[in-house]
Amino acid sequence: MQAKQLEEAGCDIIRLAIPDEQAISLIPAIKKEVSVPLVADIHFDYRLALRAVEAGIDKIRINPGNIGDDSKVKAVADACREHHVPIRIGVNSGSLEKHILAQYGHPTPQALCDSALYHASLLEKFDFTDIVLSMKSSHVDFMAEAYQLAAEQCRYPLHLGVTEAGTERMGVIKSAIGIGSLLLQGIGDTIRVSLTDDPVKEVYAAQDILKALGLYHKGVQFISCPTCGRTRIDLIALAHQAEEMLKNCRKDITVAIMGCVVNGPGEAKEADIGIAGGEGCGLIFKKGEIIKKVPEEQLLTELMLEIERM
Ligand code: SF4
Repeated sequence: MQAKQLEEAGCDIIRLAIPDEQAISLIPAIKKEVSVPLVADIHFDYRLALRAVEAGIDKIRINPGNIGDDSKVKAVADACREHHVPIRIGVNSGSLEKHILAQYGHPTPQALCDSALYHASLLEKFDFTDIVLSMKSSHVDFMAEAYQLAAEQCRYPLHLGVTEAGTERMGVIKSAIGIGSLLLQGIGDTIRVSLTDDPVKEVYAAQDILKALGLYHKGVQFISCPTCGRTRIDLIALAHQAEEMLKNCRKDITVAIMGCVVNGPGEAKEADIGIAGGEGCGLIFKKGEIIKKVPEEQLLTELMLEIERM
């Protein structure tokens, strides 16, 4: 089951598409399998939102402006309030309301922000304020500005993301810049990396962005050198293997994979543990102190054993 794979990869929130009544039955079934909070993505049918709340969903993603008259918005707000279910409003530049487009002429960051606040106002009418906003765009600069405006203009939590970011390589770069630049300013509460790829890769990419910013403490942070004339081992392969072997390790440690014994331990002094390659052998060090010398072919095995003991 995909939800299980996502949970195992370390995903903290899972969103499910709920396009019809049949999908409602997935909610209790998935909740039985995973302990990660589930978000129901509802498009136009407010009755599906009500049914999802009854079925035990943890959050609803819906835009109140798309579901019809006030009585429907009130019904969703009341049900969510009663069950302490937050609502995420998600707008993007491709689906702005006509009245907002008429005001700005074309999608702008302010138009995106206004659209999110417009949807929020429809819930506020019924005293519902347990709201999260997202204002995604496939343009990094555009989304970043929209979120900055929202952070200035309201106090709602913000869910960050670059939408339609592309396949893995470019998608991760765009997401890292867009999400990362906002988080560095203290803007953003939850994040989503969108890739045209396996969602498990989205989870790893999101964790890597948070790790790079020092905001994720449930996994290994890697340091590895770029190799140079001093490198005497196959460092690139070793670094990739170590990363793969530790990808599900939840220890909050920094691991260094360095190319030479001359500079490796010193350059990676901050790492909790690391290896430095020599001529057919390597050193294992902790906080810059050498603890062991081992043949090259045993380096990774020994490193893993040491990490297990930490
Ligand atoms: S750690 Fe050694 S091999 Fe790696 S870049 Fe520094 S000097 Fe070169």
